Amino acid sequence: MQSRMDRGFQRYQKEYEDKALEVLRSGWYILGREDEAFEEEFASYVGTRYAAGVASGLDALWLAFRVLGIGKGDEVIVQGNTYIASVMGITINDATPVFVEPNAYYEIDEEQIEEKITPRTKAVLVVHLYGQPAKMSRIREICDRHHLKLVEDCAQSHGACFDGKMTGSFGDIGCFSFYPSKNLGAFGDAGAITTDDPELARLIKIYRNYGSEKRYYNMVVGANSRLDEMQAGLLRVKLRHMQEITQERRELAKRYEDGIQNPLFMKPKVMEHTEPVWHQYVIRVPELRDELKAYLEEKNIMTIIHYPIPPHLSEAYRYLNIQEGALPVTEKYAKEVLSLPIYTGMTYKEQDEVMDALNRFHR
Ligand SMILES: *Cc1c(COP(=O)(O)O)cnc(C)c1O
Repeated sequence: MQSRMDRGFQRYQKEYEDKALEVLRSGWYILGREDEAFEEEFASYVGTRYAAGVASGLDALWLAFRVLGIGKGDEVIVQGNTYIASVMGITINDATPVFVEPNAYYEIDEEQIEEKITPRTKAVLVVHLYGQPAKMSRIREICDRHHLKLVEDCAQSHGACFDGKMTGSFGDIGCFSFYPSKNLGAFGDAGAITTDDPELARLIKIYRNYGSEKRYYNMVVGANSRLDEMQAGLLRVKLRHMQEITQERRELAKRYEDGIQNPLFMKPKVMEHTEPVWHQYVIRVPELRDELKAYLEEKNIMTIIHYPIPPHLSEAYRYLNIQEGALPVTEKYAKEVLSLPIYTGMTYKEQDEVMDALNRFHR
């Protein structure tokens, strides 16, 4: 059993196919009516004034720092246990990531942010990892007090709320990925930013299209990071069903919470004031994690490690010169985490098989 993205397609198949045909027949394929409608609907869903479609989550991240004017010599605070794209969004702009350890909820430890602030710090990048929101009330307060920009990486947190407010609406800019396996996944690469600032929204739209607002007049050296009409149209279809898609994941998470009864694992905890969306259901296995993974695989149950190598130890970031041991909590999590199968259309029977296998596992 592995993540079955076809189940999510099949559930709304007719709507997707109708939309795909409509786009094919429209004669317009990049940045058009579907994109504009999606931006409006997505902004309204997240609770921001603006959204702008881009080509991927990574593009949303690096373009966000670019339009905020963050670059060489600037530092951005980010949690150590994230997907490497979060960090690349910073370093593509020649800015320097400064890592903070995660808390017991796998989110940035908000109480360790202030000690990392230097005169060069320009922003905090919060990653709502696994679909669990970070402690946004405290983080917003820290950013305001120190005049730092706040950027949110919401690639795993579409629809997740802190104090009833959606992730992506707390920061100066929210960055979303619609990679197919994400909760709001497209059928190819896609991404978006959200913001309340009309100037930032305008700048993103300029940068994503070769730096031009008016055709063939180029203001800045931009990128080709446009959202195509097919993805925008299909995302509009899926967005209409997000409540159901999210509810289903919450039910599956609840069943895992109730059904997993093995003292060898730690189940995820939910922070007060938050409503996670369970992009991943991540358990921690302090001992025998790799043995458990192999044991499950033998039973045809596929699990994933998010992520086995923390960014600061990856080859790509050797130049940062951060030694092993520098982020003990981050490094410990990398050795202990295991993501269980959870996806749209997962049946209770399939989930019971996973839980059964987990509960039978022993030393
Ligand atoms: C998926 C992901 C990204 C990157 O998104 P892409 O669309 O693949 O570029 C960034 N950050 C996090 C936390 C992600 O999970």
